[in-house]
Amino acid sequence: MQQDYKTLIIYVLTLFVVVLLIVLKKQQDHLEELRDEVVETEVNTIDPDTLNQQSDEEPSKITQVPIRGVIGLIIDDFGYRNDHVSNGFLKLPGKLTYAIIPGHDHSQLFSKKAYDAGYEIIVHMPMENIGNTYGEEEYVLMSYFQDDEIRNRIRSAFENLPESVGLNNHQGSRGTADPRVMTLLAGVIKEKKKFFIDSRTASNSLAETTMRKYNVPTNKRNIFLDNELDEQKIKTQLLKLADVAEDKGIAIGIGHVKPQTLSVLEKELPILEEKGFRFEFVSKLVY
Ligand SMILES: [Zn+2]
Repeated sequence: MQQDYKTLIIYVLTLFVVVLLIVLKKQQDHLEELRDEVVETEVNTIDPDTLNQQSDEEPSKITQVPIRGVIGLIIDDFGYRNDHVSNGFLKLPGKLTYAIIPGHDHSQLFSKKAYDAGYEIIVHMPMENIGNTYGEEEYVLMSYFQDDEIRNRIRSAFENLPESVGLNNHQGSRGTADPRVMTLLAGVIKEKKKFFIDSRTASNSLAETTMRKYNVPTNKRNIFLDNELDEQKIKTQLLKLADVAEDKGIAIGIGHVKPQTLSVLEKELPILEEKGFRFEFVSKLVY
């Protein structure tokens, strides 16, 4: 009898331990579920909408600045140099147009570098001046040349700089006032489907009227930035250019590959952009 009693106690105790183990296991499972829920809740508290709102805020501030004027800025005379000054122009912000004289030591290399850096390229065509005309013997357009010589020189200038989409004149106070030269120029530009920007080196330039006559997209320079290589004067000219853009909607300026011009543009372009002036490739400003 005593033996039976002992066995019963052992059974009861075993049963108790088994039940206890089951309860403990259930509690552990429940705790794990709870922990998972907490982790999920924490993750859900980062609302993706809130993130979007934060990232949307900054661009909307920029677009709130009203556009005050559009500026087409051409930098002339690339091709002579390939150094820290010309390379400095490849770091400027905005859609700028770089005019390259064909046939110089660095013309083709710089044209490719500037194009790859996202700038617009045009041919800076050497044309006859009143008085002395120096250099660029291979390309310069002289008024005494035969028609074919003039056409061939313009064609080979475009071929020398395959990245170019248009043309403006380097010097040319005599050339742009010569109706035959300008008519030949208009013919080749039309044939090549390019455009012409008149640098306005002569007050009696026939460029615009000739281009209009032959339906070549064109426009002209409003302001020269750096006739005097003095940073304060260059800044004054740049602000004048912005004033013209604000008055007329669009203005075209021309500067040159000079350290003083680069220094002013590095400082002033971001400020003008902040004030609401937009820089645009001149190919978009011809009509
Ligand atoms: Zn020039």
